[in-house]
Amino acid sequence: MVDLEKSIENVKGVGPSRVTLLKKLQIETLGDLITFFPRSYEDRSKPKAIAELVDGEEALISCYPVGRMNEIRIKSNMTLCKLLARDETGGIEIVWYNQTYLKNVFVRGRRYTFYGKVKMKGSRPTLQSPIYELEGLNRKTGKIIPIYPLTYKLSQNVLRKIIENGVDDVYGKLNETLPDYIMKKYKLEDINTAIKQIHFPDNFAEFDKARRRLVFEELFTMQIALLSLKNKYDLNKKGICFDKKAKMSDVINDLPYNLTRAQERVLEEINHDMESHKPMNRLLQGDVGSGKTVVAEIATYKCVKSGYQAVIMAPTAILAGQHLESFNKILGKYGIKCELLVSGISKKDKDNIIERLKNGDIDVLIGTHAVFEDYVEFKNLGLVVTDEQHRFGVRQRAKLIQKGESPDVLVMTATPIPRTLAIILYGDLDISIIDELPPNRKPIETYTVTKDLEQRVNAFIAKQIEAKRQCYIVCPLVEESEEMDLKSATQLAKTYQEKIFPNYRVECLHGKMKQKDKDDIMERFKDGKIDILVSTTVIEVGVDVPNANIMVIEDAERFGLAQLHQLRGRVGRGEYQSYCILKYQGNTDIIKERMNVIKRSNDGFVISEKDLELRGSGEFFGTKQHGIPEFKIANLFTDIEMLKQVQSIAIEILSKDPSLENPENEPIKELIKSKFQDRIEI
Ligand code: ADP
Ligand code: MG
Repeated sequence: MVDLEKSIENVKGVGPSRVTLLKKLQIETLGDLITFFPRSYEDRSKPKAIAELVDGEEALISCYPVGRMNEIRIKSNMTLCKLLARDETGGIEIVWYNQTYLKNVFVRGRRYTFYGKVKMKGSRPTLQSPIYELEGLNRKTGKIIPIYPLTYKLSQNVLRKIIENGVDDVYGKLNETLPDYIMKKYKLEDINTAIKQIHFPDNFAEFDKARRRLVFEELFTMQIALLSLKNKYDLNKKGICFDKKAKMSDVINDLPYNLTRAQERVLEEINHDMESHKPMNRLLQGDVGSGKTVVAEIATYKCVKSGYQAVIMAPTAILAGQHLESFNKILGKYGIKCELLVSGISKKDKDNIIERLKNGDIDVLIGTHAVFEDYVEFKNLGLVVTDEQHRFGVRQRAKLIQKGESPDVLVMTATPIPRTLAIILYGDLDISIIDELPPNRKPIETYTVTKDLEQRVNAFIAKQIEAKRQCYIVCPLVEESEEMDLKSATQLAKTYQEKIFPNYRVECLHGKMKQKDKDDIMERFKDGKIDILVSTTVIEVGVDVPNANIMVIEDAERFGLAQLHQLRGRVGRGEYQSYCILKYQGNTDIIKERMNVIKRSNDGFVISEKDLELRGSGEFFGTKQHGIPEFKIANLFTDIEMLKQVQSIAIEILSKDPSLENPENEPIKELIKSKFQDRIEI
């Protein structure tokens, strides 16, 4: 067996200075070295006929020099070296600059291979500074050559040679990492061949096989780790079969509007889950304002009319209150009793609610974290709905579920996550998506501005306030990192109040305030007693203030696109034309492109896909936040089919062997241990 933990200084061709350079590439051990995968490949395997060369392509040719190399002095410090060569189909001109030492390299009567970019000069092809080699040597040409992503100060050639030596060291000695039965069942390439072929493929078919195996392993390991981290998977668990006679259409037909097609589709999915034995475990994704609440209300109707209770969790007291209002409006007429449980209520009211909840007097409990408390007991909890999921942890969700016997679970979120990521992050949930807004919404007008337009922006705000509208001003991250030169909310509020808008009512809202104070300010803003609310991202979570029609986001370039989109969703909720103004700094292409994406698109899914693309999956996740490793080889855009496949394989394995105790699954345990060390407990 080979020791993959051994330091790279033991690899041939790696001296002390290269150790330092490799370290910069995060290559410290032999294992790191052989899993430093190529970014792309150049096909230098088959020469092309000179007569068939096309302008601009990279190509390999095989030819012989005709005559000696010509040196032409074109400037005092520049010499052009020109070599004429031919193959059986035509002639080519090959040039280098200042490389006079090449003069005696090419010998008449011998054949060489050249690889480089073709340029047509009229009808005559030329190559400039190509890679060359005596034909048949097959070191730099004659095969598919890996190109590594970053090499720091190492050349591609040097790094390639080092990796080749490392691969030679391990080839044939690597222990298979995947269980035998999986290898056979999914026809996966063995680890030794895969590692060799991913770096130095014999041909592209071999490369495909190698890559497939390595991507499989990477995604599979992560899925198993995540799924076992979440909940013990138990496919055999029996849930509640809700009454087929409690029809969702009873409510739907009474609504003052028609559901969108997306809402109908999602409700069909939910209805199917609710009527089946399997406990529902569903994520409902939908942009801000797409109408998730009514979906939850209709599901709740079915639950209650089947004889069960439901609980709705909201992240803030205001939101919970807003939900209560809405639930009562929609469900009250069917005799469904809803109550609110938040931490601020009196002991007497609380005791009363808890009592009635236990004896089944209350059908629907809507609340905040207060609902998690142990003394909150249900008579027969059938449905758990959590709104704005990202505010609650998996563990909290589990705690609610335990208050019933395998209740159905609906998790609602307005954070649009690309499907690929949702599969990963919510590996244990089925996904429903509302990808359509109710008709007749006025689209929000979005503008991106730099600092020099500040005064015009302020004048615009003033105009809106004079027209009795209200304004949000969002500034990033209060008191979190001074060195990043972020304006703290308090300071910004002060500036707006004292220097810019002394005649308007400006208030400040930030994450470090007590919940009660936050709720208080939101309440006053909602009642129109505040004109301008300067705030950190705490307003992201959906409180409706239809009269607020303008949002200014300071230092917008610091936000994720998905987050900007979500913030923007706070306006455009009423009858007035709404505006979102993104103030940004910086002139890089990537910043401009990001600002343009948000300006042009109003579709959360398009935006989050783009965000993923522009930032890369690592950053998108906030890797630290979710504890998900970056991928070495898998690509979340192109490998989605594989991701789905490994996920169902992982679920199957864990449902049969939740703790991976079966000896045939021993390798999986090892894989997780080696990749995630002790961070994940099985
Ligand atoms: P979110 O998905 O952000 O929670 P809400 O459920 O709060 O969105 O819905 C936003 C508003 O749209 C609510 O006032 C709701 O009554 C309304 N609404 C929901 N569905 C429809 C529909 N199909 N047609 C018209 N209005 C709708
Ligand atoms: Mg909502």
